[in-house]
Parts: sequence; C-alpha cells; structure tokens
Amino acid sequence: MSIFGNNILGNNSIFGNKAADPAPEAPEAEPSVHKSDAEWRQELTPEEYHVLRQSGTERPYTGEYWDTHTAGVYQCRACGAELFTSNEKFDSHCGWPSFFAPLADGTVRYIHDRTLGMERVEVRCATCDSHLGHVFDGEGYGTPTDQRYCINSVSLKLVPREDPQVSAPETEA
Ligand SMILES: [Zn+2]
Repeated sequence: MSIFGNNILGNNSIFGNKAADPAPEAPEAEPSVHKSDAEWRQELTPEEYHVLRQSGTERPYTGEYWDTHTAGVYQCRACGAELFTSNEKFDSHCGWPSFFAPLADGTVRYIHDRTLGMERVEVRCATCDSHLGHVFDGEGYGTPTDQRYCINSVSLKLVPREDPQVSAPETEA
C-alpha cells in the first residue's frame, strides 16, 4: 500500500491563483462531453441528476462510498471519466467520500461557490462538467496535501481494482 506514492505532486497550484480571477467558466477547459438537460434527465436517476447536474448534496452518511475502503478507481457517474483512486481516499468521518487529491491534474475543474453564505471551491468533472462536491484546504487532516475533496457518493462509480496476481495486468488503463 503506497498511499503516498503518487499523484500528490502538481496539485498545489489550484489554490494559488484563485484570488486573481474567479472566472466561473474557464474557456480553455471546455468539457468534452456535452448533453442536453433532457438527455441528462433521461440517463441519470433523479438523485444523480439532482447532485450531478443541479449541484445538489446527498445527505451525509447515506451515500454508497463514504466508508468504502475497496481498492479501485472512482469514475464520474455521469460520463465515466476516471476522477479519483482509493490511494488518495482517506477517512475524514465527515459522511462523504474524501480524497486528498484527484487522480491527476486536469481530471477535475474548480469553480468558486459562494452559495449558502460560504466561500467554497466547487469540484466538477472536467470531462462533462457535472458537480462532484467541494474541496477544502488546511483542515489539518494530516494528509499529504492537507486538502479534503468532499465528494458525493452519487457522483461517483467505484470500479474495484482487479487482483494483479489473478489476472494479467495488460488491460490496465
Ligand atoms: Zn463526468
């Protein structure tokens, strides 16, 4: 278990420039999956639609993955893009799946969120622009990044990692 082995470099920049430009839509980072509202409504369950497409929040401790320790990759429930892995998941006991970093730079995008009277950074899937959750900084969880990506279970789909001793690793990636 190399929890700290990878994916922790290069994530320090996301909070560095937030003061300069709170642009809600970065034009250079256009999501590559575009669907109409009607299409999303058809493809997603009502709960998935509410969270992913209307920036809703599932109730804490009710989601599928808040206490999951299964090794694997967490995909976007809406488009299947790989967003997080179990290597960066940690027990925050906040009631939602928590990660200290995304799978890689560019898999998620960040938007300033000032709703509910709070100053927060929303996390969205960079591929389809669906809402995932929020990221919090400097809470003292003792993770390598001191960040908590607080993500709705309903925004994610866990693909368990196959045991490499049983199956050939050639289909990885
Ligand atoms: Zn997506």
